[in-house]
Amino acid sequence: MPHEAHIENIEGRRTLVVQRRPPLQPKLDQLLHAIHTVTYRDDIMPGGMSVACQLRDHRFRRFREGRHLGLDGVLRDVALHMCADCGAVKVSDVSYDRLPGLPLGGRLPARKNDLLGWYSGARRNRREYR
Ligand SMILES: [Zn+2]
Repeated sequence: MPHEAHIENIEGRRTLVVQRRPPLQPKLDQLLHAIHTVTYRDDIMPGGMSVACQLRDHRFRRFREGRHLGLDGVLRDVALHMCADCGAVKVSDVSYDRLPGLPLGGRLPARKNDLLGWYSGARRNRREYR
């Protein structure tokens, strides 16, 4: 199986090879099912692609937040934004940038805001992770 860790001979040494998996499910509905703890939900019915969408200027609105289990086995706090017109979705990792219980060094824990992935809204029923 190509995604399992396996041993290869590399430059004459037996070496453990670990495939890096992308964290997001390939389809949006699969991603939504992988959000185990939903902390925010405000579903959007996209109205249809606009000229702004074609110019890649989407009107993103937050519609889901929660704790997501990635295909890489990592739990992340994610925030999902959907375009109110075409339904494109962007997924951001908003996990706290340090582990709970560690000393803060005088500052509050900050949330990350890393873009994890993007689902195209161009074809309503065939959103794919790119
Ligand atoms: Zn759009």
